[in-house]
Amino acid sequence: SETLLEDLDHVGPATAQKLIDAGFSTVEAIAVSSPAELATAADIGESTAAKIILAARKAADIGGFETGDVVMERRKLVGKLSTGCKEFNDIMGGGIDSQAITEVYGEFGSGKTQLGHQLAVNVQLPQEKGGLNGSVIMIDTENTFRPERIKQMVDGLSELYGEDYDYEEFLKHIHVARAYNSNHQILLVDAASELANQLKDSDKPVRLLIVDSLTAHFRAEYIGRGTLADRQQKLNKHLHDIQRFGDLNNAVVLVTNQVMSKPDAFFGDPTKPIGGHILGHTSTFRLYMRKSKGDKRIVKLVDAPNLPDAEAVISVTTAGLRD
Ligand code: ADP
Ligand code: MG
Repeated sequence: SETLLEDLDHVGPATAQKLIDAGFSTVEAIAVSSPAELATAADIGESTAAKIILAARKAADIGGFETGDVVMERRKLVGKLSTGCKEFNDIMGGGIDSQAITEVYGEFGSGKTQLGHQLAVNVQLPQEKGGLNGSVIMIDTENTFRPERIKQMVDGLSELYGEDYDYEEFLKHIHVARAYNSNHQILLVDAASELANQLKDSDKPVRLLIVDSLTAHFRAEYIGRGTLADRQQKLNKHLHDIQRFGDLNNAVVLVTNQVMSKPDAFFGDPTKPIGGHILGHTSTFRLYMRKSKGDKRIVKLVDAPNLPDAEAVISVTTAGLRD
């Protein structure tokens, strides 16, 4: 039984509408927001906002502290999404975790978008085939989503498993939105939450969010104007919204980040991913991808909470990602 916003104390119809318009469409989203954030969004005082948040936390059963056994229960729900490559899965401890952000960075053409496409296919498979039986939301900032590529990868799966997968069914469960600038990109996470909420009780709840590229708009827009601090603050909030999405939906979150091969004074060390420290601390798993011979790519796990740094070799083939 879902609690409606209007069922919360201190929320009347007008406030409910303002909250929904501002992207706070669920009790859970309100429960994990800050009073200042909510006050601005709904045009209410901060003390009222704080009361609404408390009511939402009660309704959503989200407290400030959790005991370890409760955390353990939620951790048990963490899904592992297969990349389709054994070595790659192995260095990730069996696959890519849900309830976490996985950042993949690398130069142009290193295979970041290919990985996104492959995960968008794999996540729809049942658990025994490495999937999470879920739908996909893709925020595409560079116009690189290609349905034709999904078809090739689904055909690749049919071949692999000797089944007759229908690529059109797979395409129907990939929800793509173009992001035209960084502000639009930020707003699309709210839209994604709404869509995920609608699909929550369907046979394919959203289990994968892809933001490809996370940083391109921010990078382009903040050249020559604004400050690094401005950009970082916006990116930081965006990442927290994304993390929240992953937690609330038990979803895998993949974000991509391009490394420039040319030195760039404004953005610092070219061998370091764009985004600097904030991105480094927020993304739970960081993968560095680089080209090797032919269709081979080297994937390096450079940061993970409970796994050693390690490398895997994969191939980007027409049928998809393979060992
Ligand atoms: P980026 O890291 O910039 O997102 P991409 O994921 O777009 O890089 O990788 C592009 C590369 O993927 C191409 O250069 C090619 O090597 C490979 N690739 C793309 N499409 C196919 C395909 N249909 N068959 C085989 N390889 C492909
Ligand atoms: Mg790309």
